[in-house]
Amino acid sequence: MKVVSIFGVTGSIGSQALDFIRNQKSIFSFHTFVCDKNFKLAKDFVDEFQPKYIYFSDKIASEEFRKFNASSTILLQSFTELKNVLLSKKSDIYLSAISSSNLLELTSLAASSGGKLLLANKESLVVMGEQILNLSKQSETEIIPIDSEHYSVMNLLRNKDLKDVKKVYLTASGGPFLNKSIQEVANKSLKEALKHPTWEMGKKITIDSATLINKCFEIIEAHYLFDIPLDKLDILIHPQSKIHALVEYMDGSIDANISDADMIYPISFGFLGTINYELGKNELLSSSEGLDLNLAPFPEDRKFLIDIVKDVITNKGNRGLVFSTINDFAVRKYLERKIGFGEIYQLLISNYSKIEKKELQTIEDIEINRREIINFLEET
Ligand code: NDP
Ligand code: MG
Repeated sequence: MKVVSIFGVTGSIGSQALDFIRNQKSIFSFHTFVCDKNFKLAKDFVDEFQPKYIYFSDKIASEEFRKFNASSTILLQSFTELKNVLLSKKSDIYLSAISSSNLLELTSLAASSGGKLLLANKESLVVMGEQILNLSKQSETEIIPIDSEHYSVMNLLRNKDLKDVKKVYLTASGGPFLNKSIQEVANKSLKEALKHPTWEMGKKITIDSATLINKCFEIIEAHYLFDIPLDKLDILIHPQSKIHALVEYMDGSIDANISDADMIYPISFGFLGTINYELGKNELLSSSEGLDLNLAPFPEDRKFLIDIVKDVITNKGNRGLVFSTINDFAVRKYLERKIGFGEIYQLLISNYSKIEKKELQTIEDIEINRREIINFLEET
């Protein structure tokens, strides 16, 4: 029996993971579930999967859950209690799938466990990629990326030597505003931005896909996960979301990883540790529509985002935290309809260079600096 803990259990990735586990229940048991506000779905999951513990960041949701909870699952009252139960008994598998740079400490705790970390929360790598990878190496924690591009890169680079690789390309669908200039997207509504053409995901990553900031995070993610230098990483726009990554070798030949847009591939591999024969869904080559595989360069007018990525990777310190926190802040405001789509870019442009850059040693330093950055953004 493998013991599993899930951070972000009520989200798109968390729910897809439990959908998958539903048919494999006899090999998994559950230690801790973590979520924020969705106490109704959390209650359904608790009744069905019976974790030992559950924690809500949102105090109102926590209280609502307490009122209705008839299970033996223990409701944790504070983040300290949560950390204590996670430290007192290690899980075999952790799924880190919270949708922002909140509660990053949970990813670092899982990375130090010596078990397996299924890492969906890319913000952890943007903010503290070096630390997460160091912790996992020291404790021999296996990291499986739960992100279609990185799961593909992991498969493509297996048994390959990085010195033979000229370039690793991550693909981006281009989101709902494919081929639109930065001026044309400035006033796009929330409804339009949330209509992703190929992927169904949580709201935050859907907006990050529409701005293309998601792909910028993913370059940082790939850099840390696979130790790929920045000059060997690039992005291609691929509207069909069938190719997830390409590896070009020094001799000019290219390998691609192709599947339909479905997170079940990394999720099932993550939990089972093997390719899932049950999926057997490959109808890609037999489809009467054929396989349209268009590839185009990353738009020039969004290259200022790549400059931020370069700065984060090259100069390190708190730069990833600054990038991720401004974006978290801007996306939250956009989701609350307080700012326009174009202002997400504006907030990044006007604040990224202004915010003080510094070295951060500990997870406490990161949390303190994150709050300082949010306070700064709220006051300007
Ligand atoms: P969702 O928005 O669907 O879900 C987010 C989850 O995180 C929910 O369970 C939510 O709780 C929880 N959460 C949010 N804030 C907090 C907090 N402060 N404390 C505790 N829990 C919190 O996100 P996704 O599942 O789409 O994405 C999760 C991560 O996976 C992101 O980093 C994303 O970039 C990455 N990812 C997602 C993909 C996808 O297909 N969805 C693909 C590749 C990567 P609640 O619902 O209770 O409020
Ligand atoms: Mg991705």
